[in-house]
Amino acid sequence: VRASGLLRADLVPDAFWSEIGDRCIACTRCNMVCPTCTCFGVEDWRGAGQVERSRKWDSCQLEGFMREASGHNPMGSQALRTRRRIHHKLAVDPARWGVISCFRCGRCDAVCPTGIEIMAVARELVSRYHSDVVMGQTGPPSSGCCSE
Ligand code: SF4
Ligand code: SF4
Repeated sequence: VRASGLLRADLVPDAFWSEIGDRCIACTRCNMVCPTCTCFGVEDWRGAGQVERSRKWDSCQLEGFMREASGHNPMGSQALRTRRRIHHKLAVDPARWGVISCFRCGRCDAVCPTGIEIMAVARELVSRYHSDVVMGQTGPPSSGCCSE
C-alpha cells in the first residue's frame, strides 16, 4: 500500500525507473506467470481456403508491445515499460477499480532473473522514497493487499 501511495502521488523520479529498467532483459517471465496479467495480441493466419484469427499472450516488457503502425512507440524504453508494468498494478488499477491488481503470490519474484520483480521493486520504492509526512498528506489507497 505504501508503494502504491508513492506511485499514485507521483513521488518516484524517472531516474529510479531508468535504474530498474536497465536491469530488465525483457524475458517476459513476469507476465507469463502472473495471474492478473491478461494482455494479448491478435494474429491472422491464412491457410488453405481459410483464415484463422488467434489470440496469444503478449508482454508489456517487449519493445513492440505498444509500437504503433507509424513506428511511434509511446513506451519506447525499458524504463518506461518497467514503470508502466509496476504502475499499472499498484497505481492505475487501484484508481480505476479500487483494488491493487497484485495478489503478492510471489510468482514473478521467483522467476525474474534480475531481481526486479514487483515486491522487490515495491520494497525499494518504500525504502528510498517513503515519508510519513508525505503519506500523511496524500494518503494511501484504501484498498488492496500489498503492504509494501
Ligand atoms: S506477485 Fe503480483 S505481479 Fe507478481 S505474479 Fe503475483 S500477482 Fe502478478
Ligand atoms: S522477469 Fe524480470 S527481467 Fe524478465 S521481463 Fe520481467 S522484469 Fe524484465
